[in-house]
Amino acid sequence: MNIKLNHITKRYEERTALNNVDLLIRKGSFCGIIGPNGAGKSTLLNIIAGLVPPTEGSVLYGEEPKEGIPYREITMVFQSPYLIRTTAEKNIAYPLKLRNWSENQISDRLDQLITELGLSEQRKQKAWTLSAGEMQKVALARALSFHPKLLLLDEPTANIDPATTEELEKMLLKINREEGTTILLITHNLAQANRLCDTTVFLYDGSVVESGDSAKLLKSPEQKLTQQFIQGEWLT
Ligand code: ADP
Repeated sequence: MNIKLNHITKRYEERTALNNVDLLIRKGSFCGIIGPNGAGKSTLLNIIAGLVPPTEGSVLYGEEPKEGIPYREITMVFQSPYLIRTTAEKNIAYPLKLRNWSENQISDRLDQLITELGLSEQRKQKAWTLSAGEMQKVALARALSFHPKLLLLDEPTANIDPATTEELEKMLLKINREEGTTILLITHNLAQANRLCDTTVFLYDGSVVESGDSAKLLKSPEQKLTQQFIQGEWLT
């Protein structure tokens, strides 16, 4: 789905977390959000998810973008997954039960996701006994279970080893390409933004400094602030 942010400002008492942000995220794009700590990245994602109300401005969603958060078509994955105290497969099936899918439909979808994410051995395992990487795979499978139109990811691979990160990245690219899911990804890993995102937004101190084609923004940005951030980050 298209997402249009119109003059979004978010204030927390004296602190302005976002300052008059205008942004269009096109349907089907895989959009990276980069920027230093405190830039306003999570606040932006939480406002789009409807978890935090903006102080000013509006967010529009859909083909012909309009107001009204389509909660049932949006899902979010956090850095630390929130799983319910049951098995891996029941976690994945949870959104489908809420949506009244039949037992057969749920069983087919579970088989598909479990195979694609390599979770066969873990499907009956209690969620709290899984490794961090397995937990994040379950969280992603649960998020994708109902074919969301918009997937919001807040540093989903920050605590995950490189091999699992690669598996998660493959899955994300697959659903973006095959299902046309619009994806917004906050990442501190610029190489990851380069691998996955067609568009990247650089946020700094609550404002969008620069946004556009990822390859261009990450290699030869126009703004001095973006250059400084990227050079600093590439060296670390
Ligand atoms: P980022 O995700 O880029 O690190 P955040 O969106 O988390 O940035 O935070 C942006 C700014 O807003 C920071 O200065 C942060 O301290 C502040 N902030 C975020 N959430 C709250 C809150 N619930 N109450 C007060 N200040 C907040």
